[in-house]
Amino acid sequence: MNKTNFFSTGLLILTLSNNINNSIFSQQKPDSSKPDYIKTSSAQDDSSDLIIDSNLSFEAAIKGQNIPQSIIKNLELVTVQYYSFDGKLHQGQIVLHKDLVKDIQEIFLVIKDSKFLINKVVPISQYNWSDEESTKDNNTSAFNYRFISGTKVMSQHAYALAIDINPLLNPYTKKGTNTPSVSKYDTTKAGTIISGSLIETEFKKRGWNWGGDWKSVKDYQHFEKKLK
Ligand SMILES: [Zn+2]
Repeated sequence: MNKTNFFSTGLLILTLSNNINNSIFSQQKPDSSKPDYIKTSSAQDDSSDLIIDSNLSFEAAIKGQNIPQSIIKNLELVTVQYYSFDGKLHQGQIVLHKDLVKDIQEIFLVIKDSKFLINKVVPISQYNWSDEESTKDNNTSAFNYRFISGTKVMSQHAYALAIDINPLLNPYTKKGTNTPSVSKYDTTKAGTIISGSLIETEFKKRGWNWGGDWKSVKDYQHFEKKLK
């Protein structure tokens, strides 16, 4: 070891021991003048800026609805990250059919990297299984054990084979009437799904169908995949 190396090694040890001392110090004497989130965060740590929109157990995510075991056995609770309309990175959860998990994880990585804005992603049990309440809250979700609105036919959502994205920006439109009524399809707005866009392409290349392509009605929020 030459002199320079000895010097830098000594400096490194000094720096390390300073850091250890600092961390012991901060554990023993927390700065009570600051709120918790400031005390525990550091400028270099991205995860400290993460906003958690949903952090449920699987049981809580499917609670409150009488779901047959034949359906439950196919369900998975998946964590996803996305930038929301506050410009911050958020983390939510989505209940999916296990065969679609890989697709949605890959697509959400594109959503995050491209900063396609998603308002929030929370399992619909948190809206008492009300599609109306979830869509009015501009919430993105997949599984909902329900009929197609106004019918006795099970929706693809009942099998967790469909996802609705930013429903307030991507309405269900029938004969000129939007659902939710306050929703508006404006292709200039962030978070809107447009024909030929990156998000639509990512779904389609994995074999999903888009409700924006339907003829008699349009369901711009809706993607679904038929399993083979
Ligand atoms: Zn849908």
